[in-house]
Amino acid sequence: MKAIILLSGGLDSTLAAELMSREGLELLAVNFKTPFCLCDRHSSNLGCGSNARRVAETIGIDLKIINATQDFLPVLEKPEHGYGANMNPCIDCRILFFRKSKELMQEWGASFIITGEVLGQRPMSQFRRQMDLIEKESGLEGLVVRPLSAKLLSPTIPEKNGWISRERMLDIAGRSRKPQMALAKDLGINDYPCAAGGCLLTDPEFANRIRDLIKHHELDMQNIDLLKFGRYFRLSAGAKLIVGRNENENKMLFMLAKDGDYLFAPTSINGPNAVGKGSFSPDLLHLACRIVARYSDRMDGEHADISCRRLPESEVEMIRESFLDDDELARLRTLGDRG
Ligand code: SF4
Repeated sequence: MKAIILLSGGLDSTLAAELMSREGLELLAVNFKTPFCLCDRHSSNLGCGSNARRVAETIGIDLKIINATQDFLPVLEKPEHGYGANMNPCIDCRILFFRKSKELMQEWGASFIITGEVLGQRPMSQFRRQMDLIEKESGLEGLVVRPLSAKLLSPTIPEKNGWISRERMLDIAGRSRKPQMALAKDLGINDYPCAAGGCLLTDPEFANRIRDLIKHHELDMQNIDLLKFGRYFRLSAGAKLIVGRNENENKMLFMLAKDGDYLFAPTSINGPNAVGKGSFSPDLLHLACRIVARYSDRMDGEHADISCRRLPESEVEMIRESFLDDDELARLRTLGDRG
């Protein structure tokens, strides 16, 4: 019997994979990648899917990593079932991943799918009613096995048909992770770097920035990547500025800039790089320079020289700017500025 397991590489899906591999099933793991996964960012530089890859290798199952970004962005922009506490469209996200898993299931000749979901753990997508809705809308009714909570849920087709043993399924529910940690210990799983998984869309500050992008119809990969760095300023409906907070962010911002973007950097003093995107009037260019000056080393002077150029080829323009005062800055710091 073949089955597809959704493997994020977090603790719950690792436990589910380990438990189900003991059922004598032939498993294929699938890991869905979006620009908002946190797991792999925290744990390694090996790229998205690295935790899932490690778990799959340890258990000895094949893994397919699917980049779902192109399908995910329209879902994020307009989720049919709305958002959770922040900008996390969990129900639509699960429906998307389940539909894609169903396609893989059919392609691979598998009979059902397995997830590490735990009843009641995540408010938006892991309550019974939402789980039923997600299954129904993805065309997988009765075909989703959740081994960690299966005993608390209606028997699935694989259980009814005896493809797997309901007796060996578990009855974990709720937000505490203690039962999973105890189970991990029992199963000899000691290494789970990203216990709770993670999605940037559940971060309130990041969610503010995403909300701003959606509001201004700017949801694309470059803008999403830029949102992950620096301080974020919406200067006008058509212009925004991202200011680095450290050397690494300064480098990343300039690497991510594209033709048409503006690059700002102080020349007379030490300070941050910044990228401007959109349409900048002379007034906005000056405002951007003053913001960059505000985050530069003030030294004793009253002015800073800021270089400004537009990619790809515009001349470097030097703008001598006074420092933005704190009141002005406070007025601008409306969007997810963690600085
Ligand atoms: S937390 Fe993020 S990745 Fe997880 S279901 Fe919600 S939107 Fe999808």
